[in-house]
Amino acid sequence: MCITCCILVDKMSDIHYDLCIIGGGINGVGIARDAAGRGLSVILVEAHDLAGATSSASSKLIHGGLRYLENYDFTLVHKALKEREILYKNASNLVWPVECILPMDNKQRPEWFLRLGLWFYDRLGGKKSLPDSRLIKFWEDGVGKPLKKKYKSGFRYFDCQVDDTRLVIMNAVDAASRGAKILTHTMCKNLKIHDGKWRVSLKDTRSDDSIDISASMVVNATGPWVEGFLDSLGIGVNDNDLPSVRLVKGSHIILPRMYEGNHAYVLQQEDGRIVFVAPYEGGYTLVGTTEEDFNGDPRDVHISDQEISYLCNAYNSGFEKGISKSDVIFTFSGVRPLLDDGKDNASKVTREHFIYHHGRYEAPLLSLYGGKLTTYRAVSQDVVDKLMQISGRVGVGWSANIALAGSNFGDQGFNEYCLKQKSKYNWLPDDLFMRYASSYGTYMDCFLRGATSLDDLGKHYGDSIYEAEIEYLKKYEWVSCAEDIIWRRSKLGLYISDQTLANIEGIFSN
Ligand SMILES: Cc1cc2nc3c(=O)[nH]c(=O)nc-3n(C[C@H](O)[C@H](O)[C@H](O)COP(=O)(O)OP(=O)(O)OC[C@H]3O[C@@H](n4cnc5c(N)ncnc54)[C@H](O)[C@@H]3O)c2cc1C
Repeated sequence: MCITCCILVDKMSDIHYDLCIIGGGINGVGIARDAAGRGLSVILVEAHDLAGATSSASSKLIHGGLRYLENYDFTLVHKALKEREILYKNASNLVWPVECILPMDNKQRPEWFLRLGLWFYDRLGGKKSLPDSRLIKFWEDGVGKPLKKKYKSGFRYFDCQVDDTRLVIMNAVDAASRGAKILTHTMCKNLKIHDGKWRVSLKDTRSDDSIDISASMVVNATGPWVEGFLDSLGIGVNDNDLPSVRLVKGSHIILPRMYEGNHAYVLQQEDGRIVFVAPYEGGYTLVGTTEEDFNGDPRDVHISDQEISYLCNAYNSGFEKGISKSDVIFTFSGVRPLLDDGKDNASKVTREHFIYHHGRYEAPLLSLYGGKLTTYRAVSQDVVDKLMQISGRVGVGWSANIALAGSNFGDQGFNEYCLKQKSKYNWLPDDLFMRYASSYGTYMDCFLRGATSLDDLGKHYGDSIYEAEIEYLKKYEWVSCAEDIIWRRSKLGLYISDQTLANIEGIFSN
């Protein structure tokens, strides 16, 4: 359905919204969820697909950011560690603990330095569910086995891993369940003040249809486009207080599974950076990331040959069994929209966020700079707090203590929930069961309820992808093509056959 139909058919009265959010990355959907939960009428427009840009290209970590301690970014690490705990509690199917092994190398940071950093890291976030760090001897502990023999000991500490795209999608699902309207493939082309409100011009990027809506408040959550978007509309011209964005590209390589176990390795590099090697999607190993300034179109970001070499060398610096470029199965890249704090080195630029109020307009317009996946909930809360304050509305932040849509497992927790669900759907193969449970949480019942065998899930498209799931995705998760399904609602694209892909594409070509 085109945007005109989508908005008009639904409810004519909804053509005015309290809040219009531009951008469907983690920040946009987080703001939509928070604002809808405070009773605002919300519309979110996303030019491409949800999580189609930076939010699907992260290192998949919900972390305090151990290395930011070196930059004395204690406030950021404190906030991020607190958020790690909140997200682990509120989205435990999508956020899980990962044991990180940091081998010690006498040419790198000294033991006392790492020990001190980890001491802070264990304490800065306050009360936590994850275990404390400790020193380990590799001759006593199997985790040292795949590493180069030069490493004799290291530190073990904990962070969390996340399914970044599912986190975006489930925030959008949650926002929609609270009344927010989510429009994908809808680009904001213009913003104008009219009668004290924002007139927002939208264009359906597939049909070229256009429509105007009005909104009392607007948030520019366009991530790497934050500055380009404002420039294209002439907003911020002659505004000397307007912050600048620093675009920093980061890439990852995916290898076949390189070692046994669910732990990750944190490898210190000669240039002072650290590279993360982690289990990924069951059968793979993720290596990343790079950091380099970026000036191109964020929609067209790709790994370079140098980045592949850098990541292969980083891997080889730590592991006994080396790799070459030909071992790389897949790569992905993204652009960090960082707040430009004037630092020379891209690695040192702050990961703090900044919310800018374009105060010269009659109606509130905020632009969001910087931030991390980890802190999106707190950032979203800050953005909505600011909107409430500027517009004189009442309503307090609520999201710290409420489970995300699909993650409401109550006191039993995710593991116990899985055991119960497994006995209910005992006919599901283990792999498929775990994929459904971790991706959809309690929402798995939406397409499994009543089914008693795989045959009840409808047509099989190949590689354990059934009609029931696809129908659910089309209806409730804004899926409109095969790519949405295999890369942003799942990572099935990593391993499905060409035939399965063609079968799924067939659904959307009719
Ligand atoms: C390589 C890399 C690794 C990272 N690793 C981590 C990590 O491990 N942990 C962590 O916490 N953080 C990490 N981050 C940071 C994190 O991914 C980002 O901070 C976060 O995803 C930014 O989200 P966003 O919503 O601001 O931007 P995006 O996800 O880019 O979303 C912005 C959206 O706005 C849309 N848009 C743009 N213009 C318009 C328009 N005119 N109309 C409508 N829509 C529009 C775009 O299509 C896009 O979908 C990493 C970042 C990178 C690049």
